[in-house]
Amino acid sequence: MDAKIKENLLTEFKQKCRDRRLKITPQRTIIYEELINSLDHPSVDILYGRVKKKLPDISFDTVYRTLMTFNTIGIADIVEGINTSKRYDGNTNQHYHFICVKCGAITDITDVPFRFEIPEQIKQKYNPRSVKIFFEGLCGKC
Ligand SMILES: [Zn+2]
Ligand SMILES: [Zn+2]
Repeated sequence: MDAKIKENLLTEFKQKCRDRRLKITPQRTIIYEELINSLDHPSVDILYGRVKKKLPDISFDTVYRTLMTFNTIGIADIVEGINTSKRYDGNTNQHYHFICVKCGAITDITDVPFRFEIPEQIKQKYNPRSVKIFFEGLCGKC
């Protein structure tokens, strides 16, 4: 992810925290930065391992709860992995995913325009904030 996009995401992160009256703590900021630096859609376990290198005293529970909060305020998406735990995505722009049915790798497909029109009846009834489309198959390594 290039520097400009990261900067915009961090600005959005701070704005959304302010809107929800959430304190912009160093902990939250580091967890968010690690999330947007992780392009592999990490599980809480994996992200916890990465965050712990910067914040050795942080607990698993804090990372878990922080990710849930990020999801609630719309700055992190949950991607359902295959036979794995929930995976998190800091890229909340609409994009496709390719999920490998063998190794569970989740890869972003961002070089293809995202095309899906939410049907009017669904828009009126549920006001959805996003649409997820993923493709399944074997990745290049499998
Ligand atoms: Zn694979
Ligand atoms: Zn993604």
